This record gives sequence, C-alpha cells and structure tokens, in this order.
Amino acid sequence: MKTPDVHISEVGPRDGLQSVKATMPTADKFRWIDALAAAGLREIEVGSFVPAKLLPQMADVAEVVRHALALTAQHPDLTVMALVPNRRGAEAALAAGVRKVTLPVSASEAHSLANVRKTRGQMVAELREVAALRNERAPGVVVEVGLSTAFGCTLQGQVPEDEVIALAVACVDAGVDEVGLSDTTGMANPAQVRRLFTRLRAELGDKAGAAHMHNTRGLGLANCLAAYDVGVRAFDSSLGGLGGCPYAPGASGNVVTEDLVFMFEAMGVSTGVDIHKLIAAREPLTAGLPGEPVYGMTPEAGLPKGWLL
Ligand code: ZN
Repeated sequence: MKTPDVHISEVGPRDGLQSVKATMPTADKFRWIDALAAAGLREIEVGSFVPAKLLPQMADVAEVVRHALALTAQHPDLTVMALVPNRRGAEAALAAGVRKVTLPVSASEAHSLANVRKTRGQMVAELREVAALRNERAPGVVVEVGLSTAFGCTLQGQVPEDEVIALAVACVDAGVDEVGLSDTTGMANPAQVRRLFTRLRAELGDKAGAAHMHNTRGLGLANCLAAYDVGVRAFDSSLGGLGGCPYAPGASGNVVTEDLVFMFEAMGVSTGVDIHKLIAAREPLTAGLPGEPVYGMTPEAGLPKGWLL
C-alpha cells in the first residue's frame, strides 16, 4: 500500500484516557486499540509511563503496550508509542518494547515549573539522558518531543516565538529525533500556526514534527489546515475528541480524528484511514467509558451523499 499523504497519530488512548476521571478497563482498551488499528491508523499513543498512584488510568500501560505490539503482526505499519515524562518512564517504556516515545516539554517556563517542577533547561538535560538511554538500549526507537504551550500559556499568557524556536533547536541538540508543537491551551490561530511551523521547519528541516492542535475555541481543524499549508504532514488527534482538557461545553479538547480524516480525504489528501471503520471505533470507546461525552461533527452528520471512499 502506498504511503499516505499525511500521517495521523491517534492520541486518544493516552491524552484522552488520562484526561477523564473514569478508568477504562484493560479489556476495553484492547478492543478500542484493535478497532483503531483496523481503521488503518499507523501510529497510536497507547498510554503513559507514569507512576500508577499519579495516574491510575495508566496503571496497565505495560500490558496495553504488549497487546498493541502483538497487533503489528497483522498491521506491520503500526507504530506503538507512549508518553514518558522523564528518564525513569523512558526506561520502563523501552523495557516494554514501545517503538516511539514522546516527551512533553513546556515552551512556557511558568507552565514547566507548574507542571513538572523543572525549568525548561532541566527538561532539556532530561532529554539528553533519554536520548542516550535510547542509543544504548534500543537504537531503533524514535524519541519525539511535543512542545506544549507553544502557542500560548494559561499561566504566563504569550510565549515569545523566539523562545519556542530556540527550545526546539535545544531539543534536537540534545538528541531528539522529532520536535512538534502543541497548542495545549487552545490559544493558537491559523496565522500564528503558519508563522511558527514555517520557522520550525526552516530551523529543524526533517526533524520538525507533528502539529498537536486543540479545538477549545473551535479552531482545531483550521489550525491543522494552516500547518498543512506550510508543509506539515504529521498531525495528532483523538477519536471522539477525547481528552485535551475541554474547557468549553460542547467543544472538544483534542482535534477529532474523524473530522480531521474527513477534511483531508475530502480534499483528496490520503490518510490511510478507512473512515467507516474509524467511526465504528467509537463503539468500543463509548462502551469502555459509559457516560463520557464524545465529539465530532462528521460522525454526527454522517458522510455526505456521493462519498466514495
Ligand atoms: Zn492534546
């Protein structure tokens, strides 16, 4: 099968499940991840390697990784990834056999101190250790950084663009393979997205990573399209828009995978995802998290008449 034009990384089982109060039972996580892989998603962030007492929703992460890795026999293009907050988490993730780890690094110093009680400089030092660990134990594993609050921060407000770019360069210097930009707080607008990703790509070349956009103020898809227009080809989203701290009632936090796939496929930009199977993957999600709101305009409205894909 030909490589899709854009790469969609499904973050629901991590970003989504860690943002909701309820814990999805392990067997339901398995069914959900099976359905996501069957829909053709080539990258799934299946969990977070954090202490279970901090995030009980992720206590079964090693088991979930094992299950997802077994799926690669059937879906050889599937990359099983997990979030790791630090070196200790990376050790556990590598031991579990993940193929890609992602670390959150705050672009805002205030957010970094509040979130991980480390300065940005201390986080870059942590990255250097994680990259060294990867080189030593699992050279094939990809180390990604998502620069959170890259487009604004609820604590400090504006985050200077020069600081975002300088931090991205520092991450690459520390040995990271890909640096993406995250609109953690839903403050980004398309003009800013164009500007910042253009600079990121000019500075990092093929190490410029994914756009992780939020729909807090309704601009999620517009921001993804803006990123696409300046050459970004990797996007994070979550099924049903689960997670991403939805502040506004009726609006999802994370960009909704179903709507993102619909937008690209409607434009003739291939995603590799079967949208019918993708919509069907909402069933195991809602079954495993009864009562949790899920979002998405495409699943609500249905596919348009004459839709051939
Ligand atoms: Zn998110």
